[in-house]
Amino acid sequence: MEKILLKQSFPQWLKNLSSYTIYAPVEKDDLWEYEVIDKPESIDLDYPNAVLSPKKIIFPQTEVLLEFSSSNEEGLQVKEVLPEETSSVIFGVRPCDGKALTLTDKVFGGDFEDPYYWSRRDSITVVGLSCNIPPSPDCFCLSVDGSPHSKEGLDILMTDLGDRYLTETFTEKGDKLINLAKNLFKPPTAKDKKDAQKINVESEKRIKRQIKETKKIPPKLKGMFDSPFWDEESLSCIRCGICTYLCPTCHCFDMNDEVSSSSPLEGKRIRTWDNCQFPDFTMHSSGHNPRPDRASRLRQRILHKFQYFVEKHKNYQCTGCGRCVSKCPVGIDIIEVLDKVRDYGS
Ligand code: SF4
Ligand code: SF4
Repeated sequence: MEKILLKQSFPQWLKNLSSYTIYAPVEKDDLWEYEVIDKPESIDLDYPNAVLSPKKIIFPQTEVLLEFSSSNEEGLQVKEVLPEETSSVIFGVRPCDGKALTLTDKVFGGDFEDPYYWSRRDSITVVGLSCNIPPSPDCFCLSVDGSPHSKEGLDILMTDLGDRYLTETFTEKGDKLINLAKNLFKPPTAKDKKDAQKINVESEKRIKRQIKETKKIPPKLKGMFDSPFWDEESLSCIRCGICTYLCPTCHCFDMNDEVSSSSPLEGKRIRTWDNCQFPDFTMHSSGHNPRPDRASRLRQRILHKFQYFVEKHKNYQCTGCGRCVSKCPVGIDIIEVLDKVRDYGS
């Protein structure tokens, strides 16, 4: 369904969604973050991109998986703690981050469905926003099968046409959101559609960074596992983990039991994000570490995203959002690394 919503009617639409928890980007100290919004009129969608993608809402940095207790009378009791199923909507999701959700869906779906991830994912409606400004100077979505107006992973895509939004829906969840304020939405005119096409063409031209011939990279990586290339490229890495924590597609986690009382036994099993760039990530209890140095950890990050994930899921595990490029404190640039991979030994 395609509709036009006047910008002045946007707050009214949000007021009609009072049964939903609403998330939208909020600026704090020059950084944008998705937060729960109380005042619909305060939403500002004129923003580059959030420092953390909506991954942080669907797969939170820390969550309790279960609670346990033990007593002489009842023995060991274990209670699963699933998230509350409240309907939510996230506004202003950039297309690269919408596409990233389709990749984390593959990881948390498939043969074993992660109930914690899916209880949130299924109850959230994702409202995307086409990029009519470059979300980051380091964005390279066009090189990894994405685009600044991609619909992947979104229930709705809004395109800013100046004083109005072209609003396209792709799922029942998206249609439902529009139908809650039907009278605010009008059919688009031929000019509205033409304006949107023009904006899409212009937004693609604004993406300045690119990887050439990305398709050549996965087969090239197959022969580079033991290459000295990784030593050279990782020399400056300070193993801070920023690249992977900020990445909308990285999903590794750890689980720990936190005991609040030993007699009687009481505690919680907690899942937290983990990070392949940390030396302890692969540390065995024997003391052996199969990835003991920077080189093996950078290699893992690149091979996972551009070889293993491609072999398993037929997608790059990267949407070109540019976060890891912009925020790496020592300037390790995945675009440059991949360009060198493609040309290595040629
Ligand atoms: S952000 Fe840069 S320095 Fe930090 S772990 Fe990643 S590559 Fe290394
Ligand atoms: S690898 Fe970097 S550019 Fe690609 S999705 Fe992750 S943070 Fe974005």
